Amino acid sequence: MIEERKNMKLSGLEPLIITPESNFINVGERTNVAGSRKFLRLIKEEKFDEALAIARHQVDGGAQIIDINMDDGLIDGKEAMVRFLNLIAAEPDICRVPIMIDSSKWGIIEAGLQVVQGKSVVNSISLKEGEEKFIWEATQIKRYGAAVIVMAFDEVGQADNYERRIEIAERSYRVLVDKVGFPSEDIIFDLNIFPVATGMEEHRKNAIDFIEATRWVRENLPNVSVSGGVSNVSFSFRGNNSVREAMHSVFLYYAIQAGMNIGIVNPTMLEVYDDIPKDLLEHIEDVILDRRDDATERLLDFAETVKGKKKEDDGKALEWRKLPLQERITHALVKGIDTYIIEDAEEARLGVERPLHVIEGNLMVGMNVVGDLFGAGKMFLPQVVKSARVMKKAVGYLNPFIEAEKGEKQQALGKVLMATVKGDVHDIGKNIVSVVLGCNNYEIVDLGVMVPPEKIIETAKKENVDAIGLSGLITPSLDEMVYLAKEMERQNFEVPLLIGGATTSKAHTAVKIDTQYKNAVVHVNDASRAVTVVGDLLNKNTKNEYVAKLKKDYEEFREKFLKRGKSKAYITIEEARKRKYKIDWNTSNISKPKELGVQTLKQLSLKELIPFIDWSPFFRSWDLHGKFPAILVDDIVGEQATSLYEDAQNMLQKIVDNQLLKPKAIFGLFEANTINDDDISIKKKGEEIAVFRTLRQQLKKRDDKPSFALSDFIAPSESNKTDYMGAFCTAIFGADELANTYKSNDDDYNGIMVQAIADRFAEAFAEYLHHRVRTIHWGYCADENLSNEDLIKENYKGIRPAPGYPACPDHLEKETIWELLNVEEKIGVTLTESLAMWPAAAVSGYYFANEEAKYFGVGKITDDQVRDFATRKNISLDKARKWLHPAIADN
Ligand code: SAH
Repeated sequence: MIEERKNMKLSGLEPLIITPESNFINVGERTNVAGSRKFLRLIKEEKFDEALAIARHQVDGGAQIIDINMDDGLIDGKEAMVRFLNLIAAEPDICRVPIMIDSSKWGIIEAGLQVVQGKSVVNSISLKEGEEKFIWEATQIKRYGAAVIVMAFDEVGQADNYERRIEIAERSYRVLVDKVGFPSEDIIFDLNIFPVATGMEEHRKNAIDFIEATRWVRENLPNVSVSGGVSNVSFSFRGNNSVREAMHSVFLYYAIQAGMNIGIVNPTMLEVYDDIPKDLLEHIEDVILDRRDDATERLLDFAETVKGKKKEDDGKALEWRKLPLQERITHALVKGIDTYIIEDAEEARLGVERPLHVIEGNLMVGMNVVGDLFGAGKMFLPQVVKSARVMKKAVGYLNPFIEAEKGEKQQALGKVLMATVKGDVHDIGKNIVSVVLGCNNYEIVDLGVMVPPEKIIETAKKENVDAIGLSGLITPSLDEMVYLAKEMERQNFEVPLLIGGATTSKAHTAVKIDTQYKNAVVHVNDASRAVTVVGDLLNKNTKNEYVAKLKKDYEEFREKFLKRGKSKAYITIEEARKRKYKIDWNTSNISKPKELGVQTLKQLSLKELIPFIDWSPFFRSWDLHGKFPAILVDDIVGEQATSLYEDAQNMLQKIVDNQLLKPKAIFGLFEANTINDDDISIKKKGEEIAVFRTLRQQLKKRDDKPSFALSDFIAPSESNKTDYMGAFCTAIFGADELANTYKSNDDDYNGIMVQAIADRFAEAFAEYLHHRVRTIHWGYCADENLSNEDLIKENYKGIRPAPGYPACPDHLEKETIWELLNVEEKIGVTLTESLAMWPAAAVSGYYFANEEAKYFGVGKITDDQVRDFATRKNISLDKARKWLHPAIADN
């Protein structure tokens, strides 16, 4: 008997029934914080109204399902998901379509399932972490009555050929249908769309394997659907949209015939199949269907001619040189082209009475356009910094004329003092903000890094500044900022205080800083907001109203925040120790390092580090959010990201070819045992040479979940087993010097680029060194063989927690690392009074090899542990309180 096909029935307010006759179902994915910078920003800034508008736009534009994803480190994903879904539920023109709840965190998915209306789709589950977890999640999803996307992923990895795709799909199907009783019509397989024409032999069949696997799945696994993200397939042609659009259409043409019935497709990135020129079509089909050995090369060559057509446009691009003077200047500023700016500035100078008028007139007209575009989200940070470079070049040319005249100076909109606070050395963000403000006609007094509060106060008075911007990256800097706010209040300052940098937050600003200073305090963590905020603060007409609004906003935020904090319950440190994470030391595998003792590395070539670079944080430092490499093809920031990436590659090459930066590292591997629950005694031939103090979680937990401390991962001395641990520091020297050669030539863009690249190298070095330690020096994973991607995801055994990060929030232990390894003398990395590392591009931490070792967050601790810590470390209670301050619970 032939069973009748069962249809998947989804619903929002309206049903969506997917039958064999249905057209291809198009999923809207702009409501995804990982894929859309704009959506991310709106959610971060809690502009839910505007975020809703994006969802509405997707539905209006024809999306039949909308995918919602809130996975970002800076967002409370659960809360954002629930809030957004609840808001959508009140918008009939949005919630008429079904929702796809998209997250890699089960907690977020479940929170979404609890509030979503209608029958939704969960995106996604897989066998990646084994059958047990898969079954458990599928059972929950079934209970909530949702459909599910199953990724072709298992314990071994992602399916990347035909056989693996069908193997995993079939196994997943059998488990879901036979063991979970999951309705087969509610299963959607995502069979992994990967790029073709990459030049690598093993990628040749990526498209055809997907298509054929789709056919197999639709024929052999009754009732299921097949989906995928289409833009991946054309990844190697980024920058050439004509070819990409055609590739997407060709791919879909065949994949849909084979049974792909759902997909994430950007409608603006689709060419009409019939409109694809015949020659291009043939070349693309050769690649997608893998029809010839030389298909990739032929398409690459052909793509050049398609691009060539664009090149002619580039020829046309020079047509802007024929425009009137002002339009040329504006064009150069908006596009960041400095080739002709001096020529144009000179022409402008000859046409005005006084050279200053060129700055106040022509150049400011252009920069205002830049400011407007930036404000409207149509230009991005790297572009603006490039515009600033053009501006500076022109001003640099005009300055001698202005000085010769000894006339009036350019009238700035206001004067802003910028400084990285005492003890802190990080300034990439601050530099970007300075440049952006500078090119919006604010005069910047940049005091650099490690600036003592007295100097900030004194300079602010002397220079009569209109605002003060403070930056910092490590937690002790937060206290510095609080101190400064108090001082400003005490000395009757009236200028607004701006707060920014990685550890700063609206919460800290509202609760700890705003309360110290009667005048305006604003948290500005996004350089793109700095201009508007400073504008509102300094504009006489808006100022009072704006400041009053700010104060009120922070007060409300504070009240809400403090209420939230009060509900938390803690256990005593004794109780927490009883609940420590217990490893069975009789059976646990302790591996003895092959090379005990300390070693340094100073002769490494930078080139070796390149494969270990994680690029995603690089883009983040320029306010472009998204995962690399997907960010290069992002609908909104892709073009910017690609251009920034190209500039970075050029700089990287130059640095590597000439060894312009110098990597140095030190690490040590030692005998170690945990003593007195929370301390790790480091030993050399049985003699104690140092002790690491660890902090333990105290937040009350449900059930019998353990209260972790890092010391739990090292065998206690009572076990009578010798265990081991390590410590390390990697650093990149020479970045400031190199950056300054650019900055002194008015090229802040490349100056900041150097700093950002140095940071990447320092992190890559930490990854490289950890890899060497695992495979060689300690050797507990001698035959580890992981891809670069796996390394970046840290899919290896063992951890390298860093002081100042969640598992060891206490920076004081850096002193212990420094003494143990003699870091300063051996490789020259120093610690500031706030225990920031100098040079700024540096990483330090510990090595733990136990396979049960994992990252966690200590969270907040209470006063009993602070006292205990002071005693164990033999320091005053005041000192302990000062250093542990950011970790101490408020209640
Ligand atoms: N690839 C990123 C990695 C930096 S942050 C980059 O290039 O910028 C990740 C590192 O932070 C980890 O390798 C680890 O050293 C540290 N880390 C992460 N979570 C931690 C935690 N909970 N406690 C302590 N250190 C942690």
